[in-house]
Amino acid sequence: MQYIGRFAPTPSGPLHVGSLLTALASYLDARAHRGQWLVRIEDLDSGRVVPGADTQILNTLERFGLYWDSSVLYQSHRSELYAEHLSRLAKLSQLYPCTCSRKSLAAFENDIYPGVCRLKSAATTLPHAVRIVMPDRVVELTDRIQGGRSYHLSQDVGDIILRRKDGYFAYHLAVVIDDHEQQITHVVRGCDLLGQTPIHWFLQECFGWSHPIYAHIPIVVDDQGRKLSKSKRAAGLDCKGRSALLCELLKVLLGRPLAMGAEHCSVQELMSVAVQQWSVNNIVKIQSVKVHKCADFC
Ligand code: GLU
Ligand code: ZN
Repeated sequence: MQYIGRFAPTPSGPLHVGSLLTALASYLDARAHRGQWLVRIEDLDSGRVVPGADTQILNTLERFGLYWDSSVLYQSHRSELYAEHLSRLAKLSQLYPCTCSRKSLAAFENDIYPGVCRLKSAATTLPHAVRIVMPDRVVELTDRIQGGRSYHLSQDVGDIILRRKDGYFAYHLAVVIDDHEQQITHVVRGCDLLGQTPIHWFLQECFGWSHPIYAHIPIVVDDQGRKLSKSKRAAGLDCKGRSALLCELLKVLLGRPLAMGAEHCSVQELMSVAVQQWSVNNIVKIQSVKVHKCADFC
């Protein structure tokens, strides 16, 4: 079976333990399938991009033995492609302009947009976002780790934005186009994106594309149960204790600790053992996990 996987970090800061766990899982899954592993920098939103974070992320990947195939793809270089695809959807009359203000959007429950601008004129001169109409039907997904899930598109997801008011293409549009263009067969990523997967599934259907196979791994949370992020102190990792941290992360992914003394092995040795022992079935079916010693590295 052909296997092409990918890791797609947003360069909003250095890699933290949570994104490292995701990188590791997608890498190991690709290598265990003798597949390719690509890296894509999701730098569409220049407001979130921290200059130099991409290089820092790539360096960290290398220091952990996560070597990618082919050249790194940058989303910021691909706006033309996203624009072309957006016009394809426009031709199917599935798009409409949304002039709602941030304030009026805040009133909608669970951030589900009920389509108030659907009936307004398609030609507006006001600044507007572009939304897609979510149909009134259910999509059923099977996740390799989390199992079966079903989502009602209009009720659980709502009309989502594909191009923002400030002109940026939305993550959802770009990720679907890039996964298709890069011929990604398997997506392994954090569970925080599980609930977004029906959006990607639906957009793939709109374009007439096949779906990658998805696996959503637990996300790393801190002692208070919050997702790690830059603002939550999860700053860059330094080289110190790489093997010790790898052992902790591999314990989560392999479902059991490595042999005694493994933390004294080199990164290369640990990675080769991990590829051999890898099975997606060993990953705990939970949505979040605390990583022991994580604080030392955050
Ligand atoms: N860029 C996203 C993130 O950093 C990941 C997108 C994906 O894997 O689909 O959370
Ligand atoms: Zn609106």
